[in-house]
Amino acid sequence: MAIIVQKFGGTSVADAEKIRQAAKRVASAADKSHNVVVVASARGRQTDKLIADALELNPNPPEREMDQLLSTGEIQTVSLFAMALAAMGYEAISFTGGQIRMLTDSAHTKARIKSIDSQRIHKHLAQNKIVLIAGFQGIDENENITTLGRGGSDTTAVALAAALGAVECEIYTDVDGIYTADPRIFKTAAKMELISYDEMLEMASLGAGVMHTRAVEFGKNYDVKIHVRSSMAENKGTIITHEVSQMEGVVVSGATVQKDMAKIGLVGVDNKPGNAARIFANLAAAKVVVNDIMQTEVSAEKANLSFTMGISDLQPAKKAVERIKADIDYDKIFVRDDIAEVSVVGIGMRTHYGVADRMFGALAKARINIDSITTSEIRISCIVDKDQADEALRAVSTAFELDKPAHERIKNT
Ligand code: ADP
Ligand code: ASP
Ligand code: MG
Repeated sequence: MAIIVQKFGGTSVADAEKIRQAAKRVASAADKSHNVVVVASARGRQTDKLIADALELNPNPPEREMDQLLSTGEIQTVSLFAMALAAMGYEAISFTGGQIRMLTDSAHTKARIKSIDSQRIHKHLAQNKIVLIAGFQGIDENENITTLGRGGSDTTAVALAAALGAVECEIYTDVDGIYTADPRIFKTAAKMELISYDEMLEMASLGAGVMHTRAVEFGKNYDVKIHVRSSMAENKGTIITHEVSQMEGVVVSGATVQKDMAKIGLVGVDNKPGNAARIFANLAAAKVVVNDIMQTEVSAEKANLSFTMGISDLQPAKKAVERIKADIDYDKIFVRDDIAEVSVVGIGMRTHYGVADRMFGALAKARINIDSITTSEIRISCIVDKDQADEALRAVSTAFELDKPAHERIKNT
């Protein structure tokens, strides 16, 4: 029997009625002769509530205990979900990440999956049971509970789909697919029928919170068909897939904004071999995830270096560079915690010109100042003031006509 993985996000399981609705979806797939594996997130804002509880007792809680606490949110959901299915006459069994040996590294609060022992799941599927797995969590080699980072239940689902050889991984959420830009900010964004793994990877890592970045990576590496769709409506959502030829003709597929960002600039770093290596080795040791790096030589003796990161990494990053001031001898450190990054993404950028010009023009017209610019083969990103972030997203989305469906934006040049 074909296996299908269905993942339900927090809003889709927020209360008893929502869980019952989600259980009906699962039951209907099971009725169609599918072996169904369900992955669920914590209900509603439960994860935020648990974080607030922790911070009330300790402003700097030990990360191991944080994971221990946060993992309980999704465990509650899957056991309630299994009860709802049982009440409907379906045999269902729920597991924590640890119980199915979802093995991760030990990077608490942002762990990465190393392996999954799918035997236990297969055994129960073979007995025609619906298997429910608590999302967002795993266990390290010392049996400590770990979590995969905010939004990590998507990654649990896609990794399971890969490990189980599922025919499809359905991501049920509160939007009916992936849009050209966050529809909460750019209200007229167009829904996409298809998006390539590479574009979705860029969009997710640049702030499109609809999918966890690691989930898309798993999908790409293990060929998992991912279908992002609404838990409230029946209509088809967006398929994340490999490239199809029509995609190249669309210059910009989507725009994103990342708000919780910070930047550190080191002015007048001694311009000698090994300094950049020393700085980034220290940042890695502090487990700082660096986004973009910019360095320019300003004279034969000096260079300016800056890098961006998520705001939660700012303090450890600042400490890490201050610690090595004497070694690398920079003049001053410049910190910004009030920035956002707005980006445009599209595999069509590989073959089309004029994208940068159009993006910068749109920001200029909206009187938005650009702090810095970074590019890759399929994206352009600008750092702007955080309080202009939404306006910046709307300005670039309008400039690239992201309110129109992809087929109306295809260019042949
Ligand atoms: P879940 O709890 O189901 O995982 P999330 O809140 O993590 O849901 O993701 C869904 C949200 O992602 C949407 O409500 C939407 O505001 C946001 N989002 C951001 N960018 C996009 C985009 N490009 N397309 C669709 N939704 C987006
Ligand atoms: N519950 C976790 C969070 O809120 C994981 C998830 O929802 O995917 O981030
Ligand atoms: Mg999510």
